[in-house]
Order: sequence, then C-alpha cells, then structure tokens
Amino acid sequence: MLVVVGIIAVLIALLLPALSRARENAARVTCLSNLRQLGMAMLLYSNENQQYFPSSGAWVRADSPTVYTEMDEDWIWWQLDRDINQSPFARYLNVSGDKLQRLLQCPTDNVMDRQDLPSDIALGQGKYRYSYTINQAVSSGNTQSTLQCTKAVQWTRTAEKILFSEEIDPNDSRWAPPGDRLTTRHGSGFKQINPVTSYPVGSVCGLNINAAFVDGHAEPITQDYADDPRHYLIGGQ
Ligand SMILES: [Zn+2]
Repeated sequence: MLVVVGIIAVLIALLLPALSRARENAARVTCLSNLRQLGMAMLLYSNENQQYFPSSGAWVRADSPTVYTEMDEDWIWWQLDRDINQSPFARYLNVSGDKLQRLLQCPTDNVMDRQDLPSDIALGQGKYRYSYTINQAVSSGNTQSTLQCTKAVQWTRTAEKILFSEEIDPNDSRWAPPGDRLTTRHGSGFKQINPVTSYPVGSVCGLNINAAFVDGHAEPITQDYADDPRHYLIGGQ
C-alpha cells in the first residue's frame, strides 16, 4: 500500500510541472492571439480613417487636478463612465461585452489586483482593467487641441515597430517607453534567439513579453527589444 502511495506521489510530482507548463503555454498563445486581433483591428480602423490611428486614451498629471479629456478617437473607451463596446477598434472585431473584455485581458494578468487611479486625477474612474497599452509614439496628446495621431503609412519597417504591449501595472491605455516597464509574465525559460544583444552568450533572458506590431502581427519580445528606440519610434532605421 505504501509503495502504491509513494508511486502515485512521484507520478504527481512528475506531472505537475508539465501541467503548469502547459497552462503557461496556453496563456501565452491566447495572449498572442488577443494582440494579433487587436493589431488587425487597428489596421482596419486606420484604413477607414484616412490612414490615421486612433488616440491613446491617456491622462497626464498636470497642475490642474483633472487635465484629462475623453475623446471619441481614444482607441479604447476604458473609463468606468464609458461603454467599452463603443471603442473605435471594437467594430472591427466580432465580439462585444464580456468576450471583448476578455480579449483585452491577458489570461495571466490579475487586473483586479491593481490600485484604483488616484481620485484627484481620475475621479471615480476606477482602474485600467485591461492588459494591453498602445505605444505613445502612435498617438500623443491628451486633449483635442494637442492630439497628434500618426498615419499607418508613415511607419516604415512596420514588422519591427511595437504597436501594443503588456505594461507592468498600467495606469491608463498608453505605454510610454522607455519609462514604462513591461511585464515578464510569460515565463523566463527561453534562450535568447537573437545573438545580437547585450546579453552574455548563453544567458537566459526571456522572450517573455508579448507585443503586437504596426504591421498587425504579434510575437514575444524581450525588455531589451522594447527599450530600443528603433522598435518604438516612428523614425529611425
Ligand atoms: Zn500576456
């Protein structure tokens, strides 16, 4: 009897890591799929809007306590007083409601653990409840008069330019590199594929961040990759 119990215990010990790896892989794939759909929706949006991308939906702290303007062009209507289904990109996806919310959340991101936004800045807006944020180089400005959206056709080397990524604890829908750091939630056991980096040979550095690119595709990247201005600025190489 004890032998049987022992064997079962060993089997469980052998299986658990494999199961958790399988779960991690499934989460990574779902997240990449979310980002790919988001990327495609943004391209479709720009196609119907003289090539312009929508605005970032960001707020900034300024001298005035609530310098924060909701604009129709904000890519995601994430604030509590807005209907997420009305977000500009949403009409290019065939999901709405709960399914749309899930598409905007990485399966391993516990969005409810986040802090509410400070009440002196975003009164009653709760928190950013989604996982993906848009590169601020795509669109900047927080008010109608300062709004500057880029056009999809202005971007070159689009397969290397990040459109959306997964920020650590985002406070709005805009990612501001290099200050805003990205998550490493998708594991850390990957060998570096691209040898042209600052990492020592053979180090494990983790392609553990998912990103969507301006050409609409999605793939895992490293923080180093995201920190390189060539991968987030419209100009450059
Ligand atoms: Zn993810």
